[in-house]
Amino acid sequence: MKYMKKSFSKMVPYHSGLITDGIILNANESPYEPPLNVKEEIKKAVNEIEFNRYPDMDEVELNKAIGAHYGIDPECITCGVGSDELLDVVFRCVLEPGDTVLGFSPSFSMYQVFTELVGGNYIPVYGDSNMIFSVDTMIEKIKEHNPKLVLICTPNNPTGQYIEEKDVRRIIESTDALIALDLAYIDFAKNDYCRIALEYDNVITFKTFSKAMALPSIRCGYAISNRDNIDMINAVKAPYSVTTFSQLAAKIAISNFDSYKNQIDEIKSERDRVYKDLKKLGFNVYESEANFIYVLMDDKYNDLLLNNKIYIRKFKSGVYRITIGSKEENNKLLEVIKNA
Ligand code: PMP
Repeated sequence: MKYMKKSFSKMVPYHSGLITDGIILNANESPYEPPLNVKEEIKKAVNEIEFNRYPDMDEVELNKAIGAHYGIDPECITCGVGSDELLDVVFRCVLEPGDTVLGFSPSFSMYQVFTELVGGNYIPVYGDSNMIFSVDTMIEKIKEHNPKLVLICTPNNPTGQYIEEKDVRRIIESTDALIALDLAYIDFAKNDYCRIALEYDNVITFKTFSKAMALPSIRCGYAISNRDNIDMINAVKAPYSVTTFSQLAAKIAISNFDSYKNQIDEIKSERDRVYKDLKKLGFNVYESEANFIYVLMDDKYNDLLLNNKIYIRKFKSGVYRITIGSKEENNKLLEVIKNA
């Protein structure tokens, strides 16, 4: 630590641990590989890569494919090494030391980290006694704290709560702050409203290939906003950050979005089944529009799951997030819990 900034001395690495054996339900990954046609096309495309050349730093082909998918101008899109890179860049573009960021809590832990990296002040906006977020409370807190940046994650990681488009619009229209709308899990929800970023000056939406598109291995995410905001992100992010392979794989995935329908539908129906079963067993479970379920349960259940090599995410004693697995994986999880 001798050579590092004092203000960073309490930082700890984000760590989810690499598990290679057992049932992995701790990182909101898809239990499925990408559809076969997508995988085959990716394999073929690898042969065409010119490995001795840098990637296209403007991601022209990929942004065109994303633009075609949503019917939006490719110049209003930029890609990053996961949406993590783009979130990090936006925090750095927007915040001066001492600026305030508001976000619902609990939510994705990196928002606070990115805020602290630039010396900002992260103010959590809590839900009610049952951790349900209120848009009215957020609007009040925005008036009270006058933030530079507001984070809205919907469906929210880790609680799964989905905020309707009209309610997100109420937040956007209540303020001049920049709204970072993190839609990492929106493909599992009722309605993907990522295009609303183009109707306002103050909105950037973030999406990722890591969740519904089943490609966390390629580390690719994208941001959608007006050209001014996208130009600023492009000016600040590291050159050539998205590899040629990632661009190719992501392009193939988004161009074949329809091939994902079955597996996304399967995850959604399994989510609803696991929710109902856990509720029937008497657990305090949260309604989710994502590919995971937040649940309050005694730690003894987690101990039993661990004995059976079933890994879920523990936040603190009694507070867990279960990623939805395949039918067989979910059956095993429910069986262990039921037997207890
Ligand atoms: N936003 C949310 C809400 C997430 O849960 C995650 C991943 N855990 C990310 C962004 C980052 O995803 P990626 O960098 O893989 O695109």
